[in-house]
Amino acid sequence: MERFIPDEKRIQQTVDNYRRIKNNVLETAVKAGRSEKDVRLMCVTKTVDAAYINPVLDDGADLIGENRVQEYLGKRDSLHLNGVEKHLIGHLQTNKVRQIVGEVDMIESVDSLHLAREISKQSVKKDVISNILVEVNIGQEESKSGIFLEGLEELLCEIAELENIKVKGLMTIPPICSGSEVRKYFEIMHKTFIDIRDKNLDNINMDILSMGMSGDYETAVAEGSNIVRVGSAIFGARQYF
Ligand SMILES: *Cc1c(COP(=O)(O)O)cnc(C)c1O
Repeated sequence: MERFIPDEKRIQQTVDNYRRIKNNVLETAVKAGRSEKDVRLMCVTKTVDAAYINPVLDDGADLIGENRVQEYLGKRDSLHLNGVEKHLIGHLQTNKVRQIVGEVDMIESVDSLHLAREISKQSVKKDVISNILVEVNIGQEESKSGIFLEGLEELLCEIAELENIKVKGLMTIPPICSGSEVRKYFEIMHKTFIDIRDKNLDNINMDILSMGMSGDYETAVAEGSNIVRVGSAIFGARQYF
């Protein structure tokens, strides 16, 4: 493999992007009448080399999201992860669960009882508690993972029965659509989140509503998100290889 030489300009640009978006998230939260502490910025680091991630971590970023188990496990030793929370946000196959349980602080992409059972089983084996979010397919898109709204409460209650697993809230990726349409999806998500929270279901915490990405994070914050997951607006367009 060729020796990888990071581009200084790109590093500077990345840190500038991170600072600008961080400020913007906080300002948008305050404008929406929310507390700054109520909204966290996740840096989505998939496909990004550690050389560009570390400057952002050194600048104070305290939450990263990765999509793939293999990619995360392969690069984490080169990351400055002291005090940084790690979430898995990509679709998780049951056969990868064993490798990721205990290695991240939260799995945001749980969308079936089958998957939750495997997370529970591996968590018991490793004697850890796994924090999870349930992923909702708010646009009912065939191509996307996530549970449809109509099945959500039942799934939550089934997961709540499992050992060594803690439901902390909901995550969603809305369909690609116009700003006003996306706002509607976020509104529905927030309403669902509040409704479920107010039911005080046993063993279900509704603390976290993870929604909003590079193109729509401001709308998401205005509509009640408390984790926005931003990748390309910080690190630039992704290069898949
Ligand atoms: C890639 C990804 C993001 C970030 O997307 P950007 O549009 O680059 O900000 C957020 N959430 C999930 C689940 C992702 O896979």
